[in-house]
Amino acid sequence: MIKLEKGGKFYTTRTIRTLALNQADLSVVAGDFLAIMGPSGSGKSTLLNVLGMFESLDEGRLFLAGENVAALGYARRIALRRRLIGYIFQSFNLISSMSVYDNVALPLQYRGVPKPERRQRVDQILAVFGLTHRAGHHPAQLSGGQQQRVAIARAMVSRPGLILADEPTGNLDSKNSRDVLEQLKKINREGTTVVMVTHSQEASGYANRVLTMCDGRLA
Ligand code: ADP
Ligand code: MG
Repeated sequence: MIKLEKGGKFYTTRTIRTLALNQADLSVVAGDFLAIMGPSGSGKSTLLNVLGMFESLDEGRLFLAGENVAALGYARRIALRRRLIGYIFQSFNLISSMSVYDNVALPLQYRGVPKPERRQRVDQILAVFGLTHRAGHHPAQLSGGQQQRVAIARAMVSRPGLILADEPTGNLDSKNSRDVLEQLKKINREGTTVVMVTHSQEASGYANRVLTMCDGRLA
């Protein structure tokens, strides 16, 4: 599903050059549930952004579902992301002008899922995350934890082959955390590959394996 070879990513500002990814190697087979832990600033979000094709590598190579990402043009990268990936951003990235319902329905719309099936699937996932009564609200009208659950519902609704989750329980109380982790585990058992960045020991306990990131590298 994922093959990252000697991945390098640099950020250069006027005064400093940061090696956010430094010769990072990662191999994830389909069906895996991987947790990535590591101190703040170690490159975890950068890694997920690269895996989600929101950032490109400065060095090394990335293969996703057998595709060499660097060889794909912009349009084909977007198409691959929409077909393959559900992404849970650390900062949610919900669309503020759209309702909860429309935010969650968006990935299905991208995939051309017909409206009646869209409605059924969105209603179902909103119920799973206790968001049914918030379907008509806009993101700004929700608590941080509710927004995070909407972001998770949006990433899961299309049952993608790969879920990339950046601290998906970072804003949730323990009951909601457990619900989210159970759902990730369930969707993983049904075949979705999951890569989850987390600071929580409890969350990493749901994974099949745990890697630690340090100074832009996976150990
Ligand atoms: P983590 O998610 O593990 O906390 P990040 O991937 O967000 O770490 O960041 C890794 C390093 O790259 C940090 O030192 C951070 O300051 C730097 N960095 C991340 N994004 C940018 C950016 N857009 N511009 C400059 N530096 C960045
Ligand atoms: Mg981060």
